[in-house]
Amino acid sequence: MPAQRLTLVIAAHNEAMALPMLHPRLCAVLDGLDGIEGGIVYVDDGSTDATWQVMLDLAATDSRVGVLRLSRNFGKEAALTAGLDRVDDGAAMILDADGQDPPELIPEFVALWQQGYDNVYGTRLVRDGEGWLKRSTAATFYRVIGRLSRTPIPADTGDFRLLSPRALQALGQLRERHRFMKGLFGWVGFKRKALPYHRHARMVGNSKFGLWKLWNFALEGITSFSTVPLRAATYLGLATASAAFLFGVWVIVKAALYGDRVAGYPTMMVVILFLGGVQLIALGLIGEYLGRLYEESKQRPLYLIDTWQAPFVADSALHPIGGEQRDDHGTTAVGRQVP
Ligand code: UDP
Ligand code: MG
Repeated sequence: MPAQRLTLVIAAHNEAMALPMLHPRLCAVLDGLDGIEGGIVYVDDGSTDATWQVMLDLAATDSRVGVLRLSRNFGKEAALTAGLDRVDDGAAMILDADGQDPPELIPEFVALWQQGYDNVYGTRLVRDGEGWLKRSTAATFYRVIGRLSRTPIPADTGDFRLLSPRALQALGQLRERHRFMKGLFGWVGFKRKALPYHRHARMVGNSKFGLWKLWNFALEGITSFSTVPLRAATYLGLATASAAFLFGVWVIVKAALYGDRVAGYPTMMVVILFLGGVQLIALGLIGEYLGRLYEESKQRPLYLIDTWQAPFVADSALHPIGGEQRDDHGTTAVGRQVP
């Protein structure tokens, strides 16, 4: 039986310091895997530091390394998609470039894969090096999305996971532009299994996800996987309308009993401001969904590739993408054609 293949996909944005520290750890783990041919695909997500050069150097010394450079920074989700799209054989495993997802656990993921699980995901027990604000907002987010979404999105679970060939194939068919990967992995289904682990602090550098970016990320998650907020707007509208009706009855009865002395400026202001606020919130909500619909309708590719060099290729020539090869982009990724 030919060896099964496992490709580690690592998206990096300005990780020139971290990659040289991560790579030996990955190699040590891959060397120790029995009966599995391990490869690595590093994706440079529009880095402005020496990340790409570092990747090229790693690829030059190790034939297991494939390198992919996007034409600009597309964000982690698109970068991961680009990397996963290049895996056309065997399973794939996603890790962060900063060493927060310990590569030493890979054999445990592989063991579960070999037991028949398709989606083995790391669940964080402890998160080192992250402030209470990040931890508590993350915890709240997972609770909220867990309630709002019908797709199972396990709590405290990031992108650190192994996908079997069929899960990977299925994921490749989801080409939406607004990619909330944690949800997409869950949407795919198949046999899944959590693997608890201790999340360490970053080896070097700073997190690329500040609070504002995380907030937007949360909005992305909720709007991609739930329409509950839209329905909530309906109920909120119904509730205010009922309250307004009761208030109206009271105003009429009061006027009938005591006459109308043209008072009530404060109540009027309160009602106008309240209703105005509620309407704006509801409009904003609809706007969030509409905006996403607009983005999707443009059908732009998810990412564009600058250079791609596959792992395990004999001639190590780089293949710049452009001109005639323009079809090699996100919508019709090589080896993963959308039906
Ligand atoms: N990353 C990326 N593109 C981006 C931002 C981040 O590919 O636009 C990568 C980054 O290099 C790292 C991973 O995504 O490998 C996670 O980022 P980070 O460690 O900054 O996030 P955190 O662990 O703090 O949530
Ligand atoms: Mg990190």
